[in-house]
Amino acid sequence: MKNRGPRLVLLGKQGAGKGTQASQLAEHYGVLHLATGDLFRAAAHEGTPLGVEAQSYMDVGELVPDEIVIGVVEEELARSGAARTGFVLDGFPRTVRQADELERVLDDHPLDVVIDLDVPTEIVLHRIAGRRVCIQCQTPYHVDAPPKEGWTCDLCGGDVIQRDDDTEDAVMRRLELWELQTLPLIQFYRRRGILAHVDGTGDADDVFESMVVSVELRTADEA
Ligand code: ADP
Ligand code: ZN
Repeated sequence: MKNRGPRLVLLGKQGAGKGTQASQLAEHYGVLHLATGDLFRAAAHEGTPLGVEAQSYMDVGELVPDEIVIGVVEEELARSGAARTGFVLDGFPRTVRQADELERVLDDHPLDVVIDLDVPTEIVLHRIAGRRVCIQCQTPYHVDAPPKEGWTCDLCGGDVIQRDDDTEDAVMRRLELWELQTLPLIQFYRRRGILAHVDGTGDADDVFESMVVSVELRTADEA
């Protein structure tokens, strides 16, 4: 038995299925699921100062400035004690600066594995066009896989809507930023020797199995 869960990062472009996989992995390992996009959307929904500021970037598909994002992540990791117990980071880091800062924050609890969840752009564009999300608990749906009753969430009864930033322009901008800012992270983590690739095009359950295998392979030597 391992005495802690894995510390892992999920990289993948918009619509790669990162959110769904990250929450399943976090549940599977009993660790914190930290999704910066979800945090910002929840803050925006509540109208906190952080939320209002983040929304202005999110609406146009721009990245929230590094200092803000890093501050939020640092606070969440400290509050939850997850650096010690394990976590799944989803949507962070997204720039090399964020990756550097994450190493500083984690200090002597380094990442175990960074999974690059790879899906071709043509496929993610289709997925994003039909994507819908619960405004309250952020559970993802799709027009091809809607909630059971109307557009209310199966889990919490919240409204299921299209995200404000899932317009075609904002999505194209996010994909462009992903190539520019986030793709370099793959090289960054490859150099650290902790990068794993998982093909994200198949069935969600198969993708999940592949991810678990990647995690097990890289944490197997720990007692
Ligand atoms: P997507 O992966 O589709 O962009 P997310 O929910 O991960 O969706 O993020 C939504 C928005 O939140 C981003 O477009 C960006 O404005 C902001 N955001 C989330 N995570 C970060 C981050 N690590 N750095 C900067 N901005 C972020
Ligand atoms: Zn819900």
